[in-house]
Amino acid sequence: MTSWDALAAEIRGCHACSELATTRTNVVVGQLPPQGAKVLLVGEAPGANEDLTGIPFVGKAGQLLDQLLADVGLPRETVAVANVLKCRPPSNRKPIAAEANNCRGWLTAQIAIVDPALIVAMGGTAVEWFFGRGAKIGELRGQVHEPAGRRVLATYHPSAAIRFGPRGMPRAALREDLAMAARDGLVAGVREV
Ligand code: URA
Repeated sequence: MTSWDALAAEIRGCHACSELATTRTNVVVGQLPPQGAKVLLVGEAPGANEDLTGIPFVGKAGQLLDQLLADVGLPRETVAVANVLKCRPPSNRKPIAAEANNCRGWLTAQIAIVDPALIVAMGGTAVEWFFGRGAKIGELRGQVHEPAGRRVLATYHPSAAIRFGPRGMPRAALREDLAMAARDGLVAGVREV
């Protein structure tokens, strides 16, 4: 099987979405710790900070995510991170269906390489990627589902947690779901990559 680094090189050369390939600064492939990861977090798409640095979840949403991960005992350095789209949509607009389709094979290949015990789909775009159009976080969260043979937990995006504030429902739910991921992700072993 292709290695993470070989796949990353291929992803960086992708021009499937002509607009995104022109407007991006960096392709944001994702992160896999050298020791592998039991948990893979999947977000929507890079924002401005991620586009500039080439690293996923380094902006405000990423900082909240790091804090919540540390709170629940699942340090960021131990998880793999990827997005549905590897390139920033201009003005942080939502990915369009054609872009998600163009990018689908990359995330599929990343999942195969990481082979995580658990995937955490954060936000509507990631949740729809796994569960299909119209899938609702509120209806899915709180238990592990197995779409397409992968164990997936659906939850809110850290941006929603920021939008609704520190006392808002999405933040409490995200924290709870990450805590569940921390417990559940410990069940299976780490694979060599
Ligand atoms: N939001 C995402 O969905 N992914 C990132 O990498 C950053 C912000």
